[in-house]
Amino acid sequence: MRAWAVVETGKPLQEVEWPTPVPTGKQVLLEVTHAGVCHSDLHIWEGEYDLGSRGKMKLSDRGVKLPLAMGHETVGRVLSWGPEAEGQGLEVGQTRIVFPWVGCGTCARCRAEEDNMCANGRSLGVFQNGGYATHIIVPEPRHLVDPGNLDLALAATYACSGITVYSAINKLMPMDPDDPIVLVGAGGLGLQAIAVLKALGHRRIVSVDVSAEKLEAAKAAGATDTVDARGEGVTAKLMEVCGGPVMAVVDLVNGSATARFAFDALGKGGKLVQVGLFGGELSLPLPLMAMKAITIQGSYVGSPKELRALVKIAQGGALPAIPVTREPLRNADSALMRLRAGHVTGRIVLTADAA
Ligand SMILES: [Zn+2]
Ligand SMILES: [Zn+2]
Repeated sequence: MRAWAVVETGKPLQEVEWPTPVPTGKQVLLEVTHAGVCHSDLHIWEGEYDLGSRGKMKLSDRGVKLPLAMGHETVGRVLSWGPEAEGQGLEVGQTRIVFPWVGCGTCARCRAEEDNMCANGRSLGVFQNGGYATHIIVPEPRHLVDPGNLDLALAATYACSGITVYSAINKLMPMDPDDPIVLVGAGGLGLQAIAVLKALGHRRIVSVDVSAEKLEAAKAAGATDTVDARGEGVTAKLMEVCGGPVMAVVDLVNGSATARFAFDALGKGGKLVQVGLFGGELSLPLPLMAMKAITIQGSYVGSPKELRALVKIAQGGALPAIPVTREPLRNADSALMRLRAGHVTGRIVLTADAA
Protein backbone atom coordinates (compact mmCIF):
# COMPACT_ATOMS: atom_id res chain seq x y z
CA MET A 1 0.00 0.00 0.00
CA ARG A 2 0.95 3.60 -0.41
CA ALA A 3 0.37 6.36 2.16
CA TRP A 4 0.92 10.10 2.38
CA ALA A 5 2.28 10.18 5.89
CA VAL A 6 3.50 12.58 8.55
CA VAL A 7 7.07 11.37 8.99
CA GLU A 8 8.30 14.39 10.89
CA THR A 9 6.14 16.91 12.76
CA GLY A 10 5.58 20.11 10.77
CA LYS A 11 7.38 18.79 7.65
CA PRO A 12 5.74 17.97 4.30
CA LEU A 13 3.81 14.71 4.11
CA GLN A 14 5.84 11.98 2.42
CA GLU A 15 4.64 9.37 -0.03
CA VAL A 16 5.64 6.04 1.51
CA GLU A 17 5.28 2.36 0.62
CA TRP A 18 4.13 0.07 3.44
CA PRO A 19 3.17 -3.61 3.41
CA THR A 20 -0.59 -3.87 2.91
CA PRO A 21 -1.96 -5.04 6.29
CA VAL A 22 -3.77 -8.35 6.59
CA PRO A 23 -6.93 -8.02 8.73
CA THR A 24 -7.05 -10.16 11.86
CA GLY A 25 -9.82 -10.77 14.45
CA LYS A 26 -12.77 -8.48 13.73
CA GLN A 27 -10.75 -6.13 11.49
CA VAL A 28 -11.84 -5.09 8.02
CA LEU A 29 -9.48 -3.96 5.24
CA LEU A 30 -10.80 -1.35 2.83
CA GLU A 31 -9.42 0.28 -0.28
CA VAL A 32 -9.68 4.05 0.26
CA THR A 33 -11.78 5.87 -2.33
CA HIS A 34 -12.31 9.22 -0.54
CA ALA A 35 -10.45 11.04 2.24
CA GLY A 36 -11.57 14.44 3.54
CA VAL A 37 -8.93 16.94 4.68
CA CYS A 38 -9.92 18.25 8.10
CA HIS A 39 -8.64 21.19 10.11
CA SER A 40 -7.77 18.94 13.05
CA ASP A 41 -5.22 17.22 10.78
CA LEU A 42 -3.26 20.46 11.02
CA HIS A 43 -2.95 20.04 14.79
CA ILE A 44 -1.77 16.47 14.41
CA TRP A 45 0.72 17.57 11.76
CA GLU A 46 1.94 20.45 13.95
CA GLY A 47 2.21 17.97 16.83
CA GLU A 48 0.75 20.06 19.63
CA TYR A 49 -2.22 21.88 21.11
CA ASP A 50 -2.13 25.34 22.68
CA LEU A 51 -3.32 25.13 26.32
CA GLY A 52 -2.86 28.84 27.02
CA SER A 53 -1.03 29.56 30.29
CA ARG A 54 -0.70 25.80 30.82
CA GLY A 55 1.66 25.65 27.85
CA LYS A 56 1.49 23.17 24.99
CA MET A 57 0.17 19.63 24.96
CA LYS A 58 2.30 17.47 22.70
CA LEU A 59 0.51 14.87 20.66
CA SER A 60 3.43 12.54 21.30
CA ASP A 61 2.49 12.75 25.02
CA ARG A 62 -0.99 11.58 24.05
CA GLY A 63 0.52 8.55 22.33
CA VAL A 64 0.57 9.68 18.70
CA LYS A 65 3.39 7.87 16.92
CA LEU A 66 5.05 8.74 13.61
CA PRO A 67 5.08 7.91 10.79
CA LEU A 68 1.32 8.30 10.59
CA ALA A 69 -1.15 8.39 7.71
CA MET A 70 -3.66 10.99 8.90
CA GLY A 71 -7.18 11.22 7.48
CA HIS A 72 -10.33 10.51 9.46
CA GLU A 73 -13.03 11.28 6.88
CA THR A 74 -12.76 8.13 4.86
CA VAL A 75 -14.93 6.23 2.43
CA GLY A 76 -13.65 2.98 1.00
CA ARG A 77 -14.46 -0.36 -0.60
CA VAL A 78 -14.37 -3.53 1.48
CA LEU A 79 -11.53 -5.84 0.39
CA SER A 80 -11.19 -8.50 3.13
CA TRP A 81 -11.76 -9.16 6.82
CA GLY A 82 -10.57 -11.22 9.76
CA PRO A 83 -12.20 -14.52 10.84
CA GLU A 84 -14.23 -12.92 13.69
CA ALA A 85 -15.89 -10.49 11.25
CA GLU A 86 -17.42 -13.43 9.37
CA GLY A 87 -21.23 -13.53 9.26
CA GLN A 88 -21.68 -9.79 9.78
CA GLY A 89 -22.96 -8.94 6.32
CA LEU A 90 -19.66 -7.97 4.75
CA GLU A 91 -19.20 -8.41 1.03
CA VAL A 92 -16.18 -7.65 -1.10
CA GLY A 93 -16.71 -4.38 -2.98
CA GLN A 94 -19.20 -2.81 -0.54
CA THR A 95 -18.73 0.95 -0.28
CA ARG A 96 -18.70 2.14 3.31
CA ILE A 97 -18.16 5.29 5.39
CA VAL A 98 -15.55 4.60 8.08
CA PHE A 99 -16.33 5.71 11.65
CA PRO A 100 -12.86 6.80 12.80
CA TRP A 101 -13.32 7.73 16.50
CA VAL A 102 -12.72 4.22 17.73
CA GLY A 103 -11.75 3.30 21.28
CA CYS A 104 -10.42 0.26 23.11
CA GLY A 105 -13.39 -1.80 21.91
CA THR A 106 -14.01 -3.46 25.28
CA CYS A 107 -15.00 -0.81 27.88
CA ALA A 108 -18.61 0.07 28.76
CA ARG A 109 -18.56 3.15 26.54
CA CYS A 110 -17.28 1.29 23.50
CA ARG A 111 -19.85 -1.46 24.05
CA ALA A 112 -22.56 1.21 24.28
CA GLU A 113 -21.33 2.56 20.93
CA GLU A 114 -20.03 5.75 22.48
CA ASP A 115 -16.54 4.94 21.24
CA ASN A 116 -15.67 8.63 20.99
CA MET A 117 -15.97 8.87 24.81
CA CYS A 118 -13.60 5.92 25.45
CA ALA A 119 -10.78 6.85 27.82
CA ASN A 120 -8.32 4.94 25.63
CA GLY A 121 -9.02 6.46 22.22
CA ARG A 122 -7.49 4.68 19.26
CA SER A 123 -8.90 7.01 16.57
CA LEU A 124 -8.07 6.23 12.95
CA GLY A 125 -5.90 8.92 11.39
CA VAL A 126 -4.69 9.97 14.85
CA PHE A 127 -3.45 6.97 16.83
CA GLN A 128 -3.69 4.46 13.99
CA ASN A 129 -3.27 4.97 10.25
CA GLY A 130 -6.16 6.68 8.50
CA GLY A 131 -7.37 7.57 5.05
CA TYR A 132 -4.45 9.43 3.45
CA ALA A 133 -3.50 6.11 1.96
CA THR A 134 -4.57 3.53 -0.57
CA HIS A 135 -5.78 1.15 2.19
CA ILE A 136 -7.18 1.38 5.70
CA ILE A 137 -7.75 -1.13 8.51
CA VAL A 138 -10.97 -0.69 10.52
CA PRO A 139 -11.25 -2.44 13.93
CA GLU A 140 -14.80 -3.81 13.61
CA PRO A 141 -17.59 -4.10 11.02
CA ARG A 142 -19.89 -1.94 13.22
CA HIS A 143 -17.60 1.01 12.45
CA LEU A 144 -18.72 0.87 8.81
CA VAL A 145 -21.82 2.75 7.64
CA ASP A 146 -23.57 2.25 4.29
CA PRO A 147 -23.71 5.59 2.43
CA GLY A 148 -26.53 4.34 0.16
CA ASN A 149 -27.21 6.81 -2.63
CA LEU A 150 -25.19 9.67 -1.11
CA ASP A 151 -22.45 11.52 -2.96
CA LEU A 152 -19.39 9.72 -1.63
CA ALA A 153 -17.12 12.74 -1.24
CA LEU A 154 -19.81 14.45 0.80
CA ALA A 155 -20.50 11.24 2.75
CA ALA A 156 -16.83 11.11 3.76
CA THR A 157 -17.17 14.47 5.50
CA TYR A 158 -19.97 13.13 7.71
CA ALA A 159 -17.44 10.96 9.59
CA CYS A 160 -15.88 14.03 11.21
CA SER A 161 -17.28 17.43 10.36
CA GLY A 162 -20.81 16.00 9.99
CA ILE A 163 -21.06 14.17 13.30
CA THR A 164 -19.01 16.80 15.10
CA VAL A 165 -21.56 19.51 14.38
CA TYR A 166 -24.51 17.10 14.72
CA SER A 167 -23.35 16.02 18.18
CA ALA A 168 -22.72 19.65 19.25
CA ILE A 169 -26.15 20.76 18.01
CA ASN A 170 -27.79 17.82 19.80
CA LYS A 171 -26.36 19.25 23.03
CA LEU A 172 -28.41 22.45 22.47
CA MET A 173 -31.68 20.82 21.56
CA PRO A 174 -34.59 21.11 22.00
CA MET A 175 -34.84 24.78 20.98
CA ASP A 176 -37.52 26.92 19.40
CA PRO A 177 -36.67 26.91 15.66
CA ASP A 178 -36.93 30.72 15.63
CA ASP A 179 -34.49 31.31 18.51
CA PRO A 180 -31.03 32.25 17.23
CA ILE A 181 -28.21 29.72 17.34
CA VAL A 182 -24.80 31.35 16.94
CA LEU A 183 -22.15 29.41 15.04
CA VAL A 184 -18.62 30.74 15.49
CA GLY A 185 -16.54 29.84 12.43
CA ALA A 186 -17.74 29.53 8.84
CA GLY A 187 -15.17 27.05 7.50
CA GLY A 188 -15.96 23.42 6.72
CA LEU A 189 -17.51 22.81 10.15
CA GLY A 190 -19.50 26.04 10.08
CA LEU A 191 -21.07 25.28 6.72
CA GLN A 192 -21.80 21.71 7.81
CA ALA A 193 -23.47 23.06 10.98
CA ILE A 194 -25.70 25.34 8.90
CA ALA A 195 -26.66 22.36 6.74
CA VAL A 196 -27.49 20.20 9.77
CA LEU A 197 -29.51 22.96 11.47
CA LYS A 198 -31.51 23.49 8.28
CA ALA A 199 -32.12 19.75 8.00
CA LEU A 200 -33.42 19.77 11.60
CA GLY A 201 -35.83 22.58 10.70
CA HIS A 202 -34.02 25.35 12.56
CA ARG A 203 -34.79 28.76 11.10
CA ARG A 204 -32.53 31.29 12.85
CA ILE A 205 -28.81 30.74 12.23
CA VAL A 206 -26.17 33.40 12.98
CA SER A 207 -22.74 32.78 11.46
CA VAL A 208 -19.60 34.51 12.80
CA ASP A 209 -16.20 34.65 11.11
CA VAL A 210 -13.24 36.95 10.39
CA SER A 211 -13.37 36.29 6.63
CA ALA A 212 -15.85 38.18 4.44
CA GLU A 213 -15.57 35.40 1.85
CA LYS A 214 -16.47 32.72 4.38
CA LEU A 215 -19.40 34.78 5.66
CA GLU A 216 -20.64 35.01 2.05
CA ALA A 217 -20.43 31.22 1.83
CA ALA A 218 -22.35 30.97 5.11
CA LYS A 219 -25.10 33.22 3.73
CA ALA A 220 -25.26 31.14 0.57
CA ALA A 221 -25.53 28.00 2.72
CA GLY A 222 -28.50 29.44 4.62
CA ALA A 223 -27.24 31.51 7.55
CA THR A 224 -29.95 34.08 8.29
CA ASP A 225 -27.47 36.58 9.76
CA THR A 226 -23.71 37.07 9.71
CA VAL A 227 -21.36 38.88 12.08
CA ASP A 228 -17.86 39.98 11.08
CA ALA A 229 -15.62 39.17 14.05
CA ARG A 230 -12.74 41.42 13.00
CA GLY A 231 -11.97 44.25 15.39
CA GLU A 232 -13.63 45.19 18.68
CA GLY A 233 -17.21 44.96 19.87
CA VAL A 234 -18.06 41.47 18.61
CA THR A 235 -20.16 40.72 21.71
CA ALA A 236 -22.27 43.85 21.14
CA LYS A 237 -22.68 43.04 17.45
CA LEU A 238 -23.78 39.50 18.31
CA MET A 239 -26.37 40.67 20.84
CA GLU A 240 -27.67 43.24 18.38
CA VAL A 241 -28.13 40.68 15.61
CA CYS A 242 -29.74 38.20 18.04
CA GLY A 243 -32.07 40.83 19.52
CA GLY A 244 -30.53 40.53 23.02
CA PRO A 245 -28.39 38.15 25.04
CA VAL A 246 -27.70 34.86 23.30
CA MET A 247 -29.00 31.50 24.53
CA ALA A 248 -27.01 29.13 22.32
CA VAL A 249 -23.52 29.29 20.84
CA VAL A 250 -21.49 26.57 19.15
CA ASP A 251 -17.86 27.67 19.01
CA LEU A 252 -16.28 25.78 16.16
CA VAL A 253 -13.04 27.78 16.48
CA ASN A 254 -12.70 27.75 20.28
CA GLY A 255 -9.75 30.07 20.71
CA SER A 256 -9.19 32.59 23.51
CA ALA A 257 -10.82 35.45 21.54
CA THR A 258 -13.87 33.56 20.28
CA ALA A 259 -14.54 31.88 23.65
CA ARG A 260 -14.49 35.28 25.32
CA PHE A 261 -16.90 37.07 23.02
CA ALA A 262 -19.16 34.02 22.97
CA PHE A 263 -19.22 33.80 26.77
CA ASP A 264 -19.84 37.53 27.15
CA ALA A 265 -22.83 37.39 24.78
CA LEU A 266 -24.61 34.62 26.75
CA GLY A 267 -27.86 35.41 28.52
CA LYS A 268 -29.45 33.78 31.58
CA GLY A 269 -29.49 30.03 31.14
CA GLY A 270 -27.36 30.36 28.01
CA LYS A 271 -25.18 27.54 26.77
CA LEU A 272 -21.81 27.58 25.04
CA VAL A 273 -20.77 24.35 23.32
CA GLN A 274 -17.03 24.28 22.64
CA VAL A 275 -15.91 22.24 19.69
CA GLY A 276 -12.84 23.71 17.96
CA LEU A 277 -9.22 22.99 18.83
CA PHE A 278 -7.76 26.38 17.93
CA GLY A 279 -6.44 26.66 21.45
CA GLY A 280 -5.77 29.14 24.21
CA GLU A 281 -7.84 29.59 27.34
CA LEU A 282 -10.88 31.31 28.81
CA SER A 283 -10.85 33.01 32.19
CA LEU A 284 -14.32 32.99 33.71
CA PRO A 285 -15.88 35.75 35.82
CA LEU A 286 -17.19 33.29 38.42
CA PRO A 287 -20.12 35.32 39.85
CA LEU A 288 -21.52 35.67 36.31
CA MET A 289 -21.39 31.91 35.81
CA ALA A 290 -23.61 31.50 38.87
CA MET A 291 -25.89 34.51 38.41
CA LYS A 292 -26.56 33.75 34.77
CA ALA A 293 -26.70 29.97 35.33
CA ILE A 294 -24.51 29.48 32.31
CA THR A 295 -23.51 26.11 30.89
CA ILE A 296 -20.23 25.56 29.07
CA GLN A 297 -19.95 22.12 27.57
CA GLY A 298 -17.27 20.56 25.43
CA SER A 299 -18.16 18.32 22.53
CA TYR A 300 -15.78 15.86 20.89
CA VAL A 301 -16.69 14.46 17.46
CA GLY A 302 -19.59 11.98 17.71
CA SER A 303 -20.59 8.36 18.11
CA PRO A 304 -21.35 5.58 15.62
CA LYS A 305 -25.03 6.04 16.56
CA GLU A 306 -24.80 9.70 15.60
CA LEU A 307 -23.06 8.86 12.31
CA ARG A 308 -25.85 6.43 11.38
CA ALA A 309 -28.53 8.98 12.39
CA LEU A 310 -26.87 11.72 10.35
CA VAL A 311 -26.47 9.50 7.27
CA LYS A 312 -30.17 8.66 7.55
CA ILE A 313 -31.08 12.37 7.63
CA ALA A 314 -28.85 12.92 4.59
CA GLN A 315 -30.38 9.97 2.74
CA GLY A 316 -33.81 11.53 3.31
CA GLY A 317 -32.57 14.42 1.19
CA ALA A 318 -32.90 17.05 3.92
CA LEU A 319 -29.19 17.76 4.39
CA PRO A 320 -27.92 20.43 1.98
CA ALA A 321 -24.50 19.71 0.44
CA ILE A 322 -21.48 21.73 1.56
CA PRO A 323 -19.03 22.85 -1.17
CA VAL A 324 -16.58 20.02 -1.85
CA THR A 325 -13.42 20.19 -3.99
CA ARG A 326 -12.10 16.84 -5.23
CA GLU A 327 -8.38 16.25 -5.67
CA PRO A 328 -6.15 13.21 -6.08
CA LEU A 329 -4.88 11.50 -2.93
CA ARG A 330 -1.29 12.36 -3.87
CA ASN A 331 -2.15 16.06 -3.33
CA ALA A 332 -2.61 15.45 0.42
CA ASP A 333 0.27 17.72 1.39
CA SER A 334 -0.68 20.70 -0.79
CA ALA A 335 -4.32 20.38 0.29
CA LEU A 336 -3.25 20.52 3.92
CA MET A 337 -1.08 23.58 3.28
CA ARG A 338 -3.94 25.45 1.57
CA LEU A 339 -6.17 24.65 4.54
CA ARG A 340 -3.48 25.97 6.84
CA ALA A 341 -3.33 29.22 4.86
CA GLY A 342 -7.11 29.58 5.25
CA HIS A 343 -7.72 29.32 1.49
CA VAL A 344 -10.33 26.57 1.55
CA THR A 345 -14.07 27.20 1.35
CA GLY A 346 -15.97 24.09 2.40
CA ARG A 347 -14.01 20.85 2.17
CA ILE A 348 -11.22 19.31 0.11
CA VAL A 349 -11.82 15.60 -0.36
CA LEU A 350 -8.96 13.54 -1.75
CA THR A 351 -10.06 10.76 -4.07
CA ALA A 352 -8.35 7.68 -5.41
CA ASP A 353 -9.59 8.19 -8.96
CA ALA A 354 -9.37 12.00 -9.47
CA ALA A 355 -7.29 12.91 -12.51
ZN1 LIG B 1 -11.82 16.16 11.60
ZN1 LIG C 1 -13.30 1.80 25.18
